[in-house]
Amino acid sequence: MTTTLAFIGLGHMGAPMAANLVKAGHRVIGHDLVPEALDGAVRSGVEAAASAVEAVTDADVVLTMLPAGRHVLDLYESILPAARPGTLFVDCSTIDVADARTVHERAVAAGMRALDAPVSGGVVGAEAATLTFMAGGGEGEFAEARPLLEVMGKKAVHCGGAGAGQAAKICNNMILGISMIAVSEAFVLAESLGLSHQALYDVASTASGQCWALSVNCPVPGPVPTSPANRDYRPGFAASLMAKDLGLAANAVREGGVQAELGLRAAELYAAYAERVGAGEDFSGIVRTIREQSGEHA
Ligand code: NAD
Repeated sequence: MTTTLAFIGLGHMGAPMAANLVKAGHRVIGHDLVPEALDGAVRSGVEAAASAVEAVTDADVVLTMLPAGRHVLDLYESILPAARPGTLFVDCSTIDVADARTVHERAVAAGMRALDAPVSGGVVGAEAATLTFMAGGGEGEFAEARPLLEVMGKKAVHCGGAGAGQAAKICNNMILGISMIAVSEAFVLAESLGLSHQALYDVASTASGQCWALSVNCPVPGPVPTSPANRDYRPGFAASLMAKDLGLAANAVREGGVQAELGLRAAELYAAYAERVGAGEDFSGIVRTIREQSGEHA
């Protein structure tokens, strides 16, 4: 069924996601504060709206892909009163779980329906329509959004009620951040013990140390030729995005009083590392910082 969609936030992720919805035959009315972002989306068939309010007026479903929770909360304040009652709001941004729950409450209070549906898979996944969506909200909302999510991705998982999609995303990325640090520390320890990268990889990748950070995104060049380490750590998954996601996880850890010492420490280490390298380096490049700092103490 062709649906009229509003898509707000047409940046690195939003633009290709909106383009895939157009390709699937949907009418997509888009808006972005940055004119160049909007122009780019128009070239792939998105209809430009002069404002977010204009974009949502005729929409059956409103999708948002914005930087952070405060952007979503601010935007919803202006667009909720402008949408038709019962419109489904799907926020694909990665934001605080607490903000996501507030967003749901405000949407429902305004007579709308809501789903949080953050993604993993990055810009490459957004372009190739191979994203994974982690959704939070009611069964009915998920069932209605699912065909759209499947146009933009290869997998959509209903994780539970409001905020559950964000919760799944930050829990997964907390595992990933901690495990990338663990793998990187092990390689630097191997170097100091005179053990080759290949030997550690050959053992650990088929033993109990096996994990995605080692066997797919291996932080040292050589053992996994496709990992970012082999192309001078070009992302991949940018260090700044890992730092952001670990910061969201740390907020939830503190709010919940969870004893997650490694998660909090990983957030600190990635915040410091990302401040130096920003978005230009894959998060596996943290191995270089660990090596440099180890050298200082040797
Ligand atoms: P981006 O900065 O490229 O895009 C965000 C867009 O939102 C920008 O074009 C900005 O102008 C627009 N915007 C902000 N406020 C707006 C408003 N009020 N009205 C209209 N437009 C507005 O960011 P991105 O890389 O596309 O990431 C978007 C979200 O996806 C973030 O929450 C990020 O954490 C998440 N994410 C990104 C990646 C990735 O690889 N880039 C991967 C997974 C998840």
